[in-house]
Amino acid sequence: MSTKSQNKKGSSRSFVLYTAILIVVVVGLFVLNQASKNEDSKNETLDSAPSLAAQPVLGDKNAKVSIVEFGDYKCPSCKQWGETVYPQLVKDYIDTGKATFSYINVLFHGDESQLGALAGETMLKLHPDQFWAFNKKLFDAQPTVDHDSLWLTEAKVLETAKAVVPTLDEAVFKQTLAAEETLKLVQLDDILVRQFGVNATPTIMINDIKIANPFDYEAIKAAIDSKLK
Ligand code: CA
Repeated sequence: MSTKSQNKKGSSRSFVLYTAILIVVVVGLFVLNQASKNEDSKNETLDSAPSLAAQPVLGDKNAKVSIVEFGDYKCPSCKQWGETVYPQLVKDYIDTGKATFSYINVLFHGDESQLGALAGETMLKLHPDQFWAFNKKLFDAQPTVDHDSLWLTEAKVLETAKAVVPTLDEAVFKQTLAAEETLKLVQLDDILVRQFGVNATPTIMINDIKIANPFDYEAIKAAIDSKLK
């Protein structure tokens, strides 16, 4: 009887011990997982902010903060970012003169990315005041379903350009689109993409800070506010 009760006690002790070990292991794994998530979501401070020479700049040029989007007209997340985060940034920081906004082309989706980038540079050169309207309209033209299929064509670019500039000289636009000079501007953007280690679109930089999650408005806001101090 006493032996039986001791055995029972012993097995319930082991049960408690195993449960405790299991809890420690589960909690440990959870903590590790959280730690690695935090590592992924950390903003990165680089050596400098991207040079804005030859880039479109929206807002007060004397602003202390520059917000840069590395974007791609073929990228669905960029379209989504432009519709959600961007309008809030314009309202809070661009319209108030606290920050400028610039767009640098990324060519992760091949020929269509390249054509979109060339079209943007062409618009910037011929009708700089209409660049942002064109940028928005070309993202609007990106289909919400099946965005990987071919849609960014020369016909679409011309249609978008004419929607923004009704008096557009098509011949001059096409000529500028094909010019070596325009290609060089796109290549300059590509150099910046490499220089700043951009490997996802959109990538947002606040001066020299590369934002880990472009959709985390609070993180972007905190980075801007830290630079405004
Ligand atoms: Ca550019």
